[in-house]
Amino acid sequence: MKKNKFLSISLLWILLFSLHIRVIAQESPVSGFLVRTTGALPFLEYGPGDDRLGGAKMTYLDSQVLLRVVDSLAGDYIVQLSKQHRAYISRSSVRPVALSRPLPAVPLSGSIRVHGDDRYDYVRISLPEKLPYRSIMRPEPNRLIVDVFGVTSNTNWLTQLRSARVIRNTWYEQLEDDVLRIHIDLQGSQQWGHLLYYDSTGNRLVVRVRRPPVSKDIRKLRIAIDPGHGGSNTGAAGTISKVLEKDYTLLMAKELEKALRKKGNRNLYMTRITDTTLDMPARILALRAIDPDLMVSIHLNSSSVDTIRGTSTFYRHIGFRPLSQAILKRMLELGLEEYGNVGHFNFALSGPTEYPNCLVEVAFLSNAGDERRILQPRFHRDVAKKITEGIQDWIRSVR
Ligand SMILES: [Zn+2]
Repeated sequence: MKKNKFLSISLLWILLFSLHIRVIAQESPVSGFLVRTTGALPFLEYGPGDDRLGGAKMTYLDSQVLLRVVDSLAGDYIVQLSKQHRAYISRSSVRPVALSRPLPAVPLSGSIRVHGDDRYDYVRISLPEKLPYRSIMRPEPNRLIVDVFGVTSNTNWLTQLRSARVIRNTWYEQLEDDVLRIHIDLQGSQQWGHLLYYDSTGNRLVVRVRRPPVSKDIRKLRIAIDPGHGGSNTGAAGTISKVLEKDYTLLMAKELEKALRKKGNRNLYMTRITDTTLDMPARILALRAIDPDLMVSIHLNSSSVDTIRGTSTFYRHIGFRPLSQAILKRMLELGLEEYGNVGHFNFALSGPTEYPNCLVEVAFLSNAGDERRILQPRFHRDVAKKITEGIQDWIRSVR
């Protein structure tokens, strides 16, 4: 009996030890194969999660970024970003690659340069390869954080030129053995946006940081308006009237354009002005080319529960929350229920980091009371007025 007990305890230890070995093996794989990102808007996801709008996104990546595939799941590859970090990417966003020179055993970072031109500030980080990265906006103090995966610091030279205007200070820490974290401290309290990409000269990661607009005058802001859906993408439908979301988002967007023009703004951009089909990547790339000071996307909500109603605003990045709060505050003056201010939202147009943006879900097409209001042209004008006032409140409050 005693001997049996000893034997089973020994077996348990052997089992635990072999599990431990397996865990270690999974944490530090040397296997897999290399790929580079391809296409206009490849992005990493945190995990295999999926809902109506896809899994939670970690970051968009530039093309040609080098990734190591270690596993796959359905339509995704699982990539090893660093010893401790994995991410998911669509198989269609990468292609296999063979390196002419193998990566060094310990890839090292080089010098960092901070400077500005007449439009933006830049942080340029010399790297041995086009390595994956992500950015995080952090408020109070106002800071932009960039993590570069798979690299160890040999950065002993960080030049900061006075031509940088919105960047107060740049510094780094070696967050993990192979994750370099760059802190970019910003002037003021508002994030105006940033874009990460590799420069054309090679393996220098560029963080391009937007400066605040020259004037806080609403007439001077370059404002983009996105009427949700369009063409074959009809969006929701009214439960009683059967009207389509795509038609009413366009009506409200046109009223918003009119309201802003009436304020004297001649710097407006609409992603669509007719009933055309326009997919999300096309909208994101068109907006990137326009480079607005801010973007508002207009949608109408819908629920399978017909008593749910009200107005809401959405953002993904915490640095852009204040705009969505200011617009919601004004929208509530229309006597709509408060459905809420929603963060980390996975809507495609909440994803861009380049400019502050806000998704407005005006009201519910699936609720009879809200729907009645949505049908009224007067309501479209009121919504336009409130969004305009929200933008104005926000820009005035920005320090
Ligand atoms: Zn919609």
